[in-house]
Amino acid sequence: MKQVVNYINGEFCESASKRLLDNINPASGQVYGELVNSNHEDLDAAVAAASQAFPRWMSMSVEKRADYLNSIAGEIERSLDELALAESIDNGKPLTLARLVDIPRAASNFRFFAHAITQFSSESHSLGDLGLNYTLRDPIGVVGCISPWNLPLYLFSWKIAPALAAGNCVIAKPSELTPMTAFLLAKICQKVGLPKGVLNILHGVGAEIGRDICAHKDIKAISFTGGTETGRQISSIAAPMFKKLSLELGGKNPTLVFDDCDFEATVSGVVKSAFTNQGQICLCGSRIYVQEKIYEQFTKAFINKTKSIVLDDPLLENTQMGALISSQHQDKVLRLIQSAKDDGAVIETGGAKETLAGRCQDGYFVQPTVITGLSNEAAINQQEVFGPVVSLQAFKDEDEAITLANDSQYGLSASVWSQNIQSCHRVAKKLDTGIVWLNSWMVRDLRTPFGGNKQSGVGREGGVEALKFFTQAKNVFVKY
Ligand code: NAD
Repeated sequence: MKQVVNYINGEFCESASKRLLDNINPASGQVYGELVNSNHEDLDAAVAAASQAFPRWMSMSVEKRADYLNSIAGEIERSLDELALAESIDNGKPLTLARLVDIPRAASNFRFFAHAITQFSSESHSLGDLGLNYTLRDPIGVVGCISPWNLPLYLFSWKIAPALAAGNCVIAKPSELTPMTAFLLAKICQKVGLPKGVLNILHGVGAEIGRDICAHKDIKAISFTGGTETGRQISSIAAPMFKKLSLELGGKNPTLVFDDCDFEATVSGVVKSAFTNQGQICLCGSRIYVQEKIYEQFTKAFINKTKSIVLDDPLLENTQMGALISSQHQDKVLRLIQSAKDDGAVIETGGAKETLAGRCQDGYFVQPTVITGLSNEAAINQQEVFGPVVSLQAFKDEDEAITLANDSQYGLSASVWSQNIQSCHRVAKKLDTGIVWLNSWMVRDLRTPFGGNKQSGVGREGGVEALKFFTQAKNVFVKY
């Protein structure tokens, strides 16, 4: 059994609660380890350690802080195979995906913010002959970072790296469903000699220790990625305490396919955006709108391509789709498929759980599922499924495509597929989402603002936005 324990003040320790949670491998359905379920005593110890470490960490030169982040990035790169395997076992995602995307991106996050902090500058505003304003951007203090299970180390490091780079000390909590790579990251931090208390990692149930982190009076800011409902609960705790909040929440992202698209490239791109990571990426395109003229042709090609996806044991080299995160999540996805059927959906392919042979016979697999025949009001087109389920609808013209795309409580991302560059730009401008990809999907440039509109979140991560979030501005006026 693999044990996952807390990392507080540079040391590994059990929880004061003495309670343990099972860690399940979603591909086999078997318990393969345990993690501690932290309580407020662990949190107080972590906050005390972080508060003590803060004065030294914040006054360290940015070059020295950057050196630590670069060392962490180097160790992640050297541990690529070990981390990718751990991520795949913990999450159920294909090992190849973890090796190609999750772990390299975690290293990039540390490297990117190591560089970014050395280039971070603040503004000055001249008042002519009267004097000069200049703005200082100081770290906030002890901050909380809470991340989900879908891209475990990738999103965990996306928060921790800018927080540390900006000079904060961190209390971080990964999802209790995928604690393993955060635990391995703690080992890396210890190995590279990150000063004690600068990063503290607590494990446990979100509604308990996650909530306590948000409510702790000495934690001044919360950076959260997860579900919209959890974001709402966190806001209700943190907002009355006037904490700085960054919320990256759910999505129900539209994909707009125009009849002048590059057909083959679009079919491939849209299948990828629908089903990568079993559809468990907040950016996956699950509402696919296709212009009338090519609707039949596109739907046929899309279904054929979906049928060719290799769903299998995530550890096999040619597997393209692995297991969903948990049996509860598998049930939720199957329930939503059933509700679509009840609403009169046509299940073009998939629509059921997949049972594999051998070690994966009890794993949480769901077939990639393509639905047609429902209007935009149907639950499946409005609720976030966060699984391998997409629905296709036809649209007449640009105006209708935009109306359908914006008819959602969410506003995270969208992708638009057309060879008419003018209409691409016009549509991008009118979409009510934080991110738009034109003839592409999930191409990430870490300098760009990342986040959603409406119920997909508040604030932006990435580049200078993240460094601004993790610092507070102080304006100083000098009279000449
Ligand atoms: P979740 O909200 O259940 O959990 C996310 C994290 O919050 C976990 O660490 C969990 O333990 C913790 N948590 C749960 N309840 C809490 C509470 N009351 N107080 C504090 N912390 C709490 O989400 P999930 O199921 O882990 O992830 C899936 C969701 O995340 C989807 O809705 C997906 O769209 C969203 N997501 C969004 C982005 C984005 O960038 N916008 C990225 C990835 C995932």
